[in-house]
Amino acid sequence: MRTEEMIEKMTSKMAIELEDQYGAHNYHPLPVVLSRGEGVHVWDVEGKKYFDFLSAYSAINQGHCHPRIIDTMVRQAKTLTLTSRAFHSDALGVYEKFVTEYFGYDKVLPMNTGAEAVETAMKLARRWGYDKKGIPADKAKIIVCESNFHGRTITIISMSTDPDAKGGFGPYTPGFITIPYNDLDALEKALNEPDVAGFMVEPIQGEAGVFVPDDGYVARAYEMCKSKDILFIADEVQTGIARTGKLLACDHENVHPDVLILGKALSGGVYPVSAVLADDDIMLTIKPGQHGSTFGGNPIAARVAITALEVIKDENLAENAMKLGEIFRKELEAIKSDRIELVRGKGLLNAIVIKPREGKTAWDVCVTMKDNGLLAKPTHDHIIRLAPPLVINREQIMEAMEIIRKSVLSFE
Ligand code: PMP
Repeated sequence: MRTEEMIEKMTSKMAIELEDQYGAHNYHPLPVVLSRGEGVHVWDVEGKKYFDFLSAYSAINQGHCHPRIIDTMVRQAKTLTLTSRAFHSDALGVYEKFVTEYFGYDKVLPMNTGAEAVETAMKLARRWGYDKKGIPADKAKIIVCESNFHGRTITIISMSTDPDAKGGFGPYTPGFITIPYNDLDALEKALNEPDVAGFMVEPIQGEAGVFVPDDGYVARAYEMCKSKDILFIADEVQTGIARTGKLLACDHENVHPDVLILGKALSGGVYPVSAVLADDDIMLTIKPGQHGSTFGGNPIAARVAITALEVIKDENLAENAMKLGEIFRKELEAIKSDRIELVRGKGLLNAIVIKPREGKTAWDVCVTMKDNGLLAKPTHDHIIRLAPPLVINREQIMEAMEIIRKSVLSFE
């Protein structure tokens, strides 16, 4: 069969079989095959419509195929797509000015994926540690938290505590101190160790299951880092760009991280765009030739990211996430089911923790929700993350709630 014919005749069964036969088995997706998306909805190849309550792990904050973002992308794609950083482009500087003013930093270092941006931040922290703090060569340490998720590269999994992510991929990169999340005493101790350059933390741990730390944790951790002249590095790849009801999750505690890591929704989910932001004192420690990426800061990425960030402000998506998040959690808490252990989250980054029983786990609940028209993904066997695009409105939240309620109650 020719490729065009194959796409035309595609069924869910065919698509799943193709992926199974020809793709690496590094994911375990829900059995749904999507072919179209618009706003808060996606459609499968058979035409069934679903609410998307994963939003590509919070990359689709602006909604599927946002017309303004797509228009920007198509226009730029027809003009100039890639120069590499061997040459300048007329798009990059405009984006760099826009994004640094938007988040309040002197400089940005553009990359593509979240993991690359995390790697960039770690290189930056080490370099700053050597050049500015005088840490002896090869001794710099970065403090990280248990249950973190920062990506999948060898160095990033070296600081993971998840046996699935880490196990069997050694030898690992040294230079990390791991402490429990949401534990300021442990942070205090770690900050007193010699040669620490930075503390890297997710203001809410998304992949771990939407762990929201105690009020004041982020602010206090930031102050403690400051008092020791140690960089506070926020990984806001998942929590950033309005997801939690503020532009950044750190904004809830008025913290301006020394190093800010962004990805995912920085492009509205249409293109891989990530970034590291910092002030000159930190960013200018990296010199030409010491870091980079062929696609980082390319003209499509640069233009798309500007529009994606404009949409966030023009459509008041942070405010919407804050307001609807509160309504959503109240509705979830009102479900009368002893299957639900607890509901937690901030803005529109939420999770329900369920009690697995009789061999039925969060996976089974997600499959039932899918059959009823709503897509969400379990994390571990007892947590379901619920994170719709931020363009969702009250009526759609209520409609989605009906599906969630019905699905959970069917497991009574
Ligand atoms: N950091 C955090 C907090 C994330 O949630 C993720 C992705 N889930 C990443 C980094 C890695 O991003 P990417 O998959 O784009 O490499």
